[in-house]
Amino acid sequence: MGIIVQKFGGTSVRNSEAREHAFKHIKNALEEGHQVVVVVSAMGRAGEPYATDTLLSLVDHPKHMLTSREVDMLMSCGEIISSVVFSNELKKMGMTSTALSGAQAGFLTTNDFTNARINKVDPSTLQKYLKTNDVIVVAGFQGEDENGNTTTLGRGGSDTSAVALGAALNADYVDIFTDVDGIKTADPVIVKHAETLEVMTYNEIVHLAYQGSKVLHPRAVEIAMQEKIPIRVRSTYTEDTGTLVTAKKDGLIDRSINDRIVTGIAHVSGLTQIKVEATGDVIDVHDQVFKHLADAGISVDFFNIFAEGITFTVPSDKLEKTKDILGKLQYQFEVVENCAKVSAVGAGIQGVPGVASKVVSSLARQKIKILQSADSHTTIWVLIKEADLEKAVIALHDEFLTE
Ligand code: ASP
Ligand code: MG
Repeated sequence: MGIIVQKFGGTSVRNSEAREHAFKHIKNALEEGHQVVVVVSAMGRAGEPYATDTLLSLVDHPKHMLTSREVDMLMSCGEIISSVVFSNELKKMGMTSTALSGAQAGFLTTNDFTNARINKVDPSTLQKYLKTNDVIVVAGFQGEDENGNTTTLGRGGSDTSAVALGAALNADYVDIFTDVDGIKTADPVIVKHAETLEVMTYNEIVHLAYQGSKVLHPRAVEIAMQEKIPIRVRSTYTEDTGTLVTAKKDGLIDRSINDRIVTGIAHVSGLTQIKVEATGDVIDVHDQVFKHLADAGISVDFFNIFAEGITFTVPSDKLEKTKDILGKLQYQFEVVENCAKVSAVGAGIQGVPGVASKVVSSLARQKIKILQSADSHTTIWVLIKEADLEKAVIALHDEFLTE
């Protein structure tokens, strides 16, 4: 039996009652003969005393006067407090345990404060502690740069800590414990009858994660995919093993789900569509627009380049800056506010005729206007008005995922 990593999210460590459930999973794994490394998030959600958003509210986030290096000093405290409290309770239960910060656990990162990437995990300190402890509890979401500054990995980044640690320790698998029982076919808040998937491929989940499904941090999936570490997304409150995320699902689950063309419906709102009309030199317009937006740090999505101009979306909070830039360039443009993107994701989409037609007709039946679309071998995206979002997610879910 090898090492396993168990990650407990904010709601799973928010109070001693929730942590009781977490301890059961740790005991089970120890009894099975595994060595256990735990990664914790900060305790609870906004409003609870040591949650990340609560810590940020101490400095009038986002209107604070701090550097992002200082913001990271503040945010990293949430996970540190959580790891010490968790370790204390394990000791009270008679286990030997040691809490480590991200830096102490060997996380070396870039210095992109508030959104650092992991360069390396040196597990040697942790391995030393594992020899004399039942459980090591690591503060998720953080590391240090080469100058010893504390960094954080982007919101939701404890998942990434867990998977990176799993890779560095060559763990058998990484369990992500949360307050839902696995990865769903769509957001259960919108689609009441969304099902929990038994198995998903890395490829499917990476697309879902980047398209707005909040269940796993996208970078966690990328690391798992590169390092081929199986992940299970499961509930803290039951023994069910949840959704297994792995390279191939063949033979692992019953055919009825395996044969599905589309595995999940994801959505993102808060987008604005911009249409720039090219009047003069069209090649120059194409070039200038992208160059200036990139220089301003605005990431464009859904872009289509035509001989007549360009259409793209920006996050709505970047609209004013975008208008400014296009105005200064003296281009004509049109703005469509309050848009949302809905995606149908599935490894089975490639080469199957009729998928696009089903997307279009299921939306047409609901009188939903498609403003733009795009596709790849695993995803079909449509841009719609935000007011149509719920109807669109339900329509696509029912078209592809409801028997
Ligand atoms: N506590 C951090 C956040 O709220 C990291 C995490 O929970 O994964 O974003
Ligand atoms: Mg999370």
